[in-house]
Amino acid sequence: MSVGVAVLGSTGSIGRSTLQVLARQRERFRVVAITGHSNKDLLAQQAQEWKPAFVGLVNGGSREPGAGSRNGTSCLVEAATHPDVQIVVNGIVGAAGLEATLAALRAGKRVALANKETLVMAGALVAEAARQGGGEIVPVDSEHSAVLQCVAGRRPTELARLILTASGGPFRTWEPERVSKATVAEALKHPTWTMGKKITVDSATLVNKALEVIEAQFLFDVSYERIDVVIHPQSVIHGFAEFVDGSVLAQVGFPTMELPILYALTYPDRVPDQGIRRFDPVAAGTLTFEALDPHRFPAYVVGREAARVGGTAPARFNAANEVAVQLFLEEQITFGRIAEIIERVLAEGSGEKEEGTSLEEVLAADADARRLAREAACS
Ligand code: NDP
Ligand code: MG
Repeated sequence: MSVGVAVLGSTGSIGRSTLQVLARQRERFRVVAITGHSNKDLLAQQAQEWKPAFVGLVNGGSREPGAGSRNGTSCLVEAATHPDVQIVVNGIVGAAGLEATLAALRAGKRVALANKETLVMAGALVAEAARQGGGEIVPVDSEHSAVLQCVAGRRPTELARLILTASGGPFRTWEPERVSKATVAEALKHPTWTMGKKITVDSATLVNKALEVIEAQFLFDVSYERIDVVIHPQSVIHGFAEFVDGSVLAQVGFPTMELPILYALTYPDRVPDQGIRRFDPVAAGTLTFEALDPHRFPAYVVGREAARVGGTAPARFNAANEVAVQLFLEEQITFGRIAEIIERVLAEGSGEKEEGTSLEEVLAADADARRLAREAACS
């Protein structure tokens, strides 16, 4: 009997890669539900190909489509909790993915999580939902998948430190003055990965890496103080785990999201897949590592500070960033202002006294930070 999968955000970069992986694993998995936001045509094409029991379009207007289809935000939870679904791949971008993650975990599903914003906003709530419903989170993010593969089978007390790698994005070697005026097209030119727009901008500011440090805290129960980041421009080593005896394991491969997606679907097992490019050390060539320069990536520094503060500070950091990135993509602010806006929002309401253990508190902090970010952008 094959395993039922829901692909939330099937029209996005992660969603499309997931369907590519599933196309090679048809005897193990079947697509039960897919959802999109605005890309109606691609969603219809995917529905035609996969014939899922459920198709949801968030921005589909008020007219109800035919049987097995649903419009509006509620389609996400409906897809995530569908009775024939065992694994939910959450490939939604941003805070919009939170409710579906919580609902899937409460319903006892495995969530193969790409939507890192969910864990950053509400890590404690997500962990609680998994405990309540018996669901589990398996990371899709390549660095976290790497760490999971390195620590699988080890006791948490044996783990000393994690090292996440970062490509450094398109501006790694640019002068800071030039970076602050970078255009949208320049920010979207990622050197090693092809991804959605939001995460590509996050990779240029290195906000993405700060989000990943916070994500790793929740996934592996390791404090941010024991999570380091190193710049590795080739994106061949995805993450390292250092153990208490000093031994270090790393996971290696050419950059593709298909491998971490497949591993999240089959974890803890491995299955054959001929579609993934085999690693060749000679073709990979020289691998280099550099320290992260905090002056070049100020938003990363603010994100680490949010990790230190804890409570709702990570939710505020995430919300301020979502607003700033959107404004940058709309060409309403310069690239340099993204970090400045995030910094101002966290300085105004750091979330220091808020625990972030109730959904209301997290959503209020998220809304407050969005308002402050919009105000900061106008001043
Ligand atoms: P994309 O922008 O390519 O795709 C986003 C998907 O989410 C689309 O299907 C989009 O629908 C849908 N969507 C957008 N807004 C909403 C909303 N408000 N409600 C419901 N659905 C929505 O992003 P990516 O695939 O690149 O990234 C998705 C997530 O995965 C992000 O959290 C990112 O950080 C993470 N991630 C991505 C990686 C990658 O390689 N791309 C790597 C590691 C993590 P539509 O297109 O129909 O409008
Ligand atoms: Mg990543």
